[in-house]
Amino acid sequence: MLCKRVLSRPRITVSWASVAAQTRLQSTTPISATRTVPAPAERSPSHPHHASSSPRVTALESAKPFSEFLTDSFHRQHDYLRISVTERCNLRCLYCMPEEGIELSPPARLLTSPEIVYLSSLFVSQGVTKIRLTGGEPTVRKDIVPLMQAIGKLRRDGLRELCLTTNGISLHRKLDLMVEAGLTGVNLSLDTLDPFQFQIMTRRKGFEAVMKSIDRILEMNKVGAGIKLKINCVVMRGMNDREIVPFVELGREKPIEVRFIEYMPFDGNKWNQGKMFSYQEMLAVIREKYPTLEKVQDHKNDTSKTYQVPGFQGRVGFITSMTHNFCGTCNRLRITSDGNLKVCLFGNAEVSLRDIIRKENDGQPIDEDAAKQLQLMETVQNAARLSDEGALVNERELEILNIIGMAVKRKKAKHAGMGQLENMKNRPMILIGG
Ligand code: SAM
Ligand code: SF4
Repeated sequence: MLCKRVLSRPRITVSWASVAAQTRLQSTTPISATRTVPAPAERSPSHPHHASSSPRVTALESAKPFSEFLTDSFHRQHDYLRISVTERCNLRCLYCMPEEGIELSPPARLLTSPEIVYLSSLFVSQGVTKIRLTGGEPTVRKDIVPLMQAIGKLRRDGLRELCLTTNGISLHRKLDLMVEAGLTGVNLSLDTLDPFQFQIMTRRKGFEAVMKSIDRILEMNKVGAGIKLKINCVVMRGMNDREIVPFVELGREKPIEVRFIEYMPFDGNKWNQGKMFSYQEMLAVIREKYPTLEKVQDHKNDTSKTYQVPGFQGRVGFITSMTHNFCGTCNRLRITSDGNLKVCLFGNAEVSLRDIIRKENDGQPIDEDAAKQLQLMETVQNAARLSDEGALVNERELEILNIIGMAVKRKKAKHAGMGQLENMKNRPMILIGG
């Protein structure tokens, strides 16, 4: 029987200490012993303070404040969640997959679909509006379409964007169903426009299949699918840097945004500074051919710096994690396929959400039947009302939210810079979910 706690007292004090022992957070920063959720009465539109407000002010004041659990100590609000749905991949990109391969986790340690949907729903209940599924290669997960259908239903609870990061090899076969499920954006990785070079960089064949996926997205967009397409291209010196200009020229006739990514170090990917081609160098290469390349306005949480060649339909972006960090506006959280919350791509602090949600199931993976028995999806709805007067919050959701909140509060202002990153212990990219 699930135990419930009434949260309608004037001031709610959530104990951090009770959950601290259960986390595997590896940070040395001390945490405060308690966190106080402002009393519902203080935020209620029926509070006397609202009596003389205009309707607009009242609407603003009664809007639910962004979740404290997802706000870090630098006031960054995390409304974007990236979930890795598999460790597997059908390519072996040089910069991502260690040559010797990676040891896959035993299946029982990976999140099941009901667990992923449950966690998605919990994060959406707290204000997450964008979810990106990644991996490994998300399209190789057998039940990726039903999983997206289930996550897509969270639109009614506030989810606005459901995106995928994919290598595009088998996307074209599943795209129509995914769009029906609510897919709004695709970041597709492609590092070369030469089929032979593709085989060198990915250690596999498949260039034509990737192009088929790109064409299918553009075709669907012509009839109104509205899929935001970005091509991710990791630039490695001596490998594909000569293709920077041809990639920019893809945008001459096509509304494609190509984002050049600085090569980043992860365990086993043989990074060295010599192989890294910096943002400034890329800009110089493009400006040599297109001196009129101009900067366009970026959105608040964009990780890329966006440019355009006047007259081109497409745009060019740069992800400059190595030379200019964008930590100040970071709004992202990550869940690895084995269920760990990771607050920074470059941080090695992780905390297991999987272990907490499985506690009530004797530590076993939660399948559809177990999810029904535990009433996972029913009880998570209450977490959305955490700040509402008189809401009942299940112990389980409160415990998970506390653990998420603690990890988020420990997020550092920015990640280590070049010179330190390459010496840090971190999972290979394929196990983090890029
Ligand atoms: N398999 C999917 C794909 O390739 O798009 C999703 C997972 S992949 C790990 C996510 C993104 O991380 C890809 O765009 C990939 O290019 C990028 N990536 C992987 N390793 C990288 C590295 N060492 N430096 C920079 N980007 C990297
Ligand atoms: Fe696979 Fe994506 Fe990594 Fe390439 S970048 S090996 S496609 S996970």
